[in-house]
Amino acid sequence: MSEDVVTNGAAAIHLIILALSVVASIVAGILVYRDAKVRDYNPFVWGLLFPLLGLLSLRNPIQVAIILVVGIPAYLLLRPKGEIKACPHCSGKYIDELAFCPHCKKEVKKECLKCHDLADLDEARCPHCGAPMLMYEGRESRH
Ligand SMILES: [Zn+2]
Ligand SMILES: [Zn+2]
Repeated sequence: MSEDVVTNGAAAIHLIILALSVVASIVAGILVYRDAKVRDYNPFVWGLLFPLLGLLSLRNPIQVAIILVVGIPAYLLLRPKGEIKACPHCSGKYIDELAFCPHCKKEVKKECLKCHDLADLDEARCPHCGAPMLMYEGRESRH
């Protein structure tokens, strides 16, 4: 009888570990997807990678833990870095490097007429050559 209790206990612990592995892989997938989206960095590939590898390694929770412990820092190392800004059109977040918003696909940069470098839409002067720039008046008012 006491053996039954032990077996049930082990089964319950196994189930809890299994559930934790699934939840951890899915949460990692969602967080990485959202971060990759901001950086326009293959969000679907990165977002699916962790839940998929997690599901494939479900028989071995230690493997799931290793995938997360190694995979997340690897992603953080590989991802494009930059200052995070809010899109002037949809207020979605994006990194500085991008010329188009990853959420609404509209331009978030304008071109300097003098040096042809790109600057933020709200910039009054080109940060590169100092030439005055056309003011951003909103997409709708431009014909
Ligand atoms: Zn946007
Ligand atoms: Zn310029």
